[in-house]
Amino acid sequence: MDLHTVTGYRFAHDRADLALAPGERIVAGGTWMFSEPQIDVDGLVDISRIGWPAIEYRPDGGLRIAANCPIAELAALRPQSGWRAHPLFAQCAHALLASFKIWNMATVGGNICRSFAAASMVSLTVALDGSAHIWRPDGTDRDIPVSELVTGNGTNTLESGEVLRAIDFPAHALRGTTAFRKIALAELGRSGVVMTGRLDEDGTVVVGITAATEWPTVLRYPSMPDTDRLRDDVGSAAGYYTDPLGAADWRRATSMVFAEEIRAELVGAVS
Ligand SMILES: Cc1cc2nc3c(=O)[nH]c(=O)nc-3n(C[C@H](O)[C@H](O)[C@H](O)COP(=O)(O)OP(=O)(O)OC[C@H]3O[C@@H](n4cnc5c(N)ncnc54)[C@H](O)[C@@H]3O)c2cc1C
Repeated sequence: MDLHTVTGYRFAHDRADLALAPGERIVAGGTWMFSEPQIDVDGLVDISRIGWPAIEYRPDGGLRIAANCPIAELAALRPQSGWRAHPLFAQCAHALLASFKIWNMATVGGNICRSFAAASMVSLTVALDGSAHIWRPDGTDRDIPVSELVTGNGTNTLESGEVLRAIDFPAHALRGTTAFRKIALAELGRSGVVMTGRLDEDGTVVVGITAATEWPTVLRYPSMPDTDRLRDDVGSAAGYYTDPLGAADWRRATSMVFAEEIRAELVGAVS
């Protein structure tokens, strides 16, 4: 849609260009930015041509994804040897309710910075201990787990003028065995529950609940929890919410069912 309050549009080519004037906002894929009025915005700074490498394979086995990497490109990521978690990239990308146009334009960083509960890139990064690398307006950087960056349905701890530069995935998480479940009330509806599980080589288990709770819920165990423990932890988690896409009690109950399915799948995968 036309943003009738916007009078300026410029492309960022380097970090200095990311200094935002009052009223300016970052635009990446623009799929949300151009989907509704932005009455407090009078200028847009486009990061699509800034030249960040979309995907960087790190020497330590980790992975860096640029914030402006299109979700479609991430879904087609080339796996490295030992990356048992690789299927999760496409599974989470497909959890985004999206037309072909949105899928190819929407970016990993835009999805995380918009921070909707149903943000599929939040599901992915939470599942794999992803960390947000943030450029601050004073020239310094900071890193924060995405599970802590996102604080609610549409809220996060990004400060004014901060720009998400990249998401970093550690090698140990990429080598983990993963499981994934998703449900939406309508066939083409936004996700009502997205649940992920990861079993690391050292036995650590990480269960992520997104879309069902307003902020990401992460449960960590030094070894596989039994059925009762996991069900109790999932059922007593905070933040299950009601909206037109699902009632809180349905989200909670579905998460408890998925938790056991994921537990059984991970146990089966290594036995
Ligand atoms: C039909 C439709 C369906 C949708 N379905 C879903 C869905 O299922 N789940 C969901 O989560 N969203 C959904 N969305 C919302 C949106 O399209 C997605 O969240 C998308 O991933 C946003 O990415 P983008 O690159 O287009 O972000 P943009 O629209 O460019 O930006 C989104 C926000 O993030 C900020 N931003 C972007 N990049 C950065 C950065 N690097 N640093 C700091 N701030 C940044 C922008 O200033 C803006 O506030 C949907 C939208 C539409 C129109």
